[in-house]
Amino acid sequence: MSLPLSMQQIVLATGNKGKVAEFSSLFEQYKIEVVPQSEFLVSDVAETGSTFIENAILKAKHASRETNLPAIADDSGLVVDALDGAPGIYSARYAGKHGDDVGNYQKLLNELNGKKHRHAKFLCVLAFMRHGNDPTPIICQGEWHGVIAQEPLGEGGFGYDPVFYLPEHKCTVAQLDKQIKNTQSHRGKALTQLMQHVSSAL
Ligand code: IMP
Repeated sequence: MSLPLSMQQIVLATGNKGKVAEFSSLFEQYKIEVVPQSEFLVSDVAETGSTFIENAILKAKHASRETNLPAIADDSGLVVDALDGAPGIYSARYAGKHGDDVGNYQKLLNELNGKKHRHAKFLCVLAFMRHGNDPTPIICQGEWHGVIAQEPLGEGGFGYDPVFYLPEHKCTVAQLDKQIKNTQSHRGKALTQLMQHVSSAL
């Protein structure tokens, strides 16, 4: 891949404040300027895809077209075995209203009430598009495995973090140190892969 030298600035195609906070810390080590799409007044786009990959491309394309900059988008969610993969691509609006974190995890706890098998994974797909018509976006994916807790615990993070329990750390993600989340999470893993492709070309 060859990228123009002027491509030091990349737009981050998300309006999710939890993701923006994590990405700003994750990007510190890379010598590129990543600017959240809110700074360019980019609107949120409807996530009409049927897969994480489609939605990630859709969001990156929209942000790149509106800003004339390369873009990185994150489409992520929680995949629960006992619920046949739900909430999946609908994680942000599982309880009906987009971004209702407490409603979403409470619905999840209700759905799992009485179920013994509580394994789940967070999944993150990142899409990088050099420009709005890029025919070969770079796609990377990360997973993080855990167990859905019986009740929410912890104040940190966002989304389903208070109910995502990590047996190896004996706590939920909302109780976990932020730096540890960044290195071990689905998002951290996907970004490490993505930046190998992106930074080698900058
Ligand atoms: P989307 O990628 O904007 O469609 O939404 C992703 C949704 O998945 C978020 O709103 C959260 O509910 C959930 N999610 C994704 N990553 C995380 C995470 O790291 N912690 C907790 N919840 C997450």
